[in-house]
Amino acid sequence: MIRKFLRRVFRVASAPASQGPAVIPPARHGIRRESISSGARRTCETLQQAGYRAYVVGGAVRDLIAGIAPKDFDIATDATPDQVRSLFRRSRIIGRRFQIVHVMQGAETLEVSTFRAAHDADTQKDEHGRVLRDNVWGSQADDAARRDFTINALFFDPSTETVLDYHHGVADLKQKTLRIIGDPRSRYREDPVRMLRAIRLSAKLGLTIDPEARTPIRDMASLMENVPVARVFDEMLKLLFSGHAVECVKRLRDEGLHHGLLPLLDVILEQPMGEKFVLLALSSTDLRVRQGKPTSPGFLFATLLWNEVLANWEARKKRGETHIPALFEAMDEVLDQQAEKLAITRRISGDIKDIWALQPRFEKRSGKVALRLLEQPRFRAGYDFLLLRAQSGEVAQELADWWTAFQSADVEARLAMLVPEKAKKRRRPGRAKTKEGNAAEPAG
Ligand code: ATP
Ligand code: MG
Repeated sequence: MIRKFLRRVFRVASAPASQGPAVIPPARHGIRRESISSGARRTCETLQQAGYRAYVVGGAVRDLIAGIAPKDFDIATDATPDQVRSLFRRSRIIGRRFQIVHVMQGAETLEVSTFRAAHDADTQKDEHGRVLRDNVWGSQADDAARRDFTINALFFDPSTETVLDYHHGVADLKQKTLRIIGDPRSRYREDPVRMLRAIRLSAKLGLTIDPEARTPIRDMASLMENVPVARVFDEMLKLLFSGHAVECVKRLRDEGLHHGLLPLLDVILEQPMGEKFVLLALSSTDLRVRQGKPTSPGFLFATLLWNEVLANWEARKKRGETHIPALFEAMDEVLDQQAEKLAITRRISGDIKDIWALQPRFEKRSGKVALRLLEQPRFRAGYDFLLLRAQSGEVAQELADWWTAFQSADVEARLAMLVPEKAKKRRRPGRAKTKEGNAAEPAG
């Protein structure tokens, strides 16, 4: 209680610009010059030699202290975008909301941003207090204060190997606490996506969310509804491909944040069959991410929405619609419903449909049909999807095993595996006769 009180008083007293940062030596944070990429090092050097200040900032510093390999390196500087641009031949200014510079160093692209302040009195907000534009230059202290969590507000200077820490981020990271900078409620109101980030970062780094930051999430979850869909979608992609998706989804539910984020995710998770399938899909994605294997949003969304498709398809068949056309109608309807709420791009929805459309074809284990399926460009994704369906108990494991054996067998073994074609009831005369010959074709 007293600690909480002191922290509050201290926070008021330490208004951004009034306090200098703690300067933390390498012995305490463990990051050496060699820990950062050569591109990041060169970029900081060039800026510093030109008389500017330049630091590696944000996620990379946090991850290095936590012993995780950073995804990328962001640089913060007091040089303006034009000044940065003039120092690097291979660079360009990007961004509408806020200008930053992309500096190309070999194969690396570094994002260089000028120190900026959170906002001022003129900042545009929507009726819920969400900040619409923030593009005010600021000091380094302002730049630290506008960041979301204390562990994200650390600046590493490669030339001195020190970390500048304005908000006790290093201590929080060592104590495994995720703490928000400033008043949690106002910070969530300014940008509700920070609630999602809190979940993702705490899961990724194994941190406990400080109760002051955690408690308001449940009350404020509905603010997510005002965030543009494309932004939520981007953040959800980061979360689902963080390598900790299962843990994230569990935490999202614990905090009451899963409603409306991935529309129908809550519905799906409430069906016993659906939940098992979705969790299997998420944990296999987690495994792939951690092993550095490629992953695709199409595949994951296909799994997340599959039970909706199954239910829709079943209902259509009950109404007398024909097997395959009913599946295609069901796929379109489910995707249309989602498209309104999820910013699924056309390309991703094409991938999703390919995977779904292949599923009934796995049931045919005879002749040409089975052999042709192997040649489908999306066979691999469709087969991986089938494996998950078998694991969750939706289709027989024996079917999945057959396909596993079939694809690795040589041509002769494949032909031996093919299930003899049943005499088709309503085949046109003449066609059925050629069937056997056709199936044997590829062997010759
Ligand atoms: P990741 O490991 O996914 O890259 P990250 O923290 O680096 O995590 P980015 O989206 O790359 O996430 O953001 C870079 C930095 O920008 C963060 O470390 C943080 O300092 C700041 N930041 C990002 N999003 C917000 C936000 N919504 N509000 C305030 N600061 C933010
Ligand atoms: Mg980052």
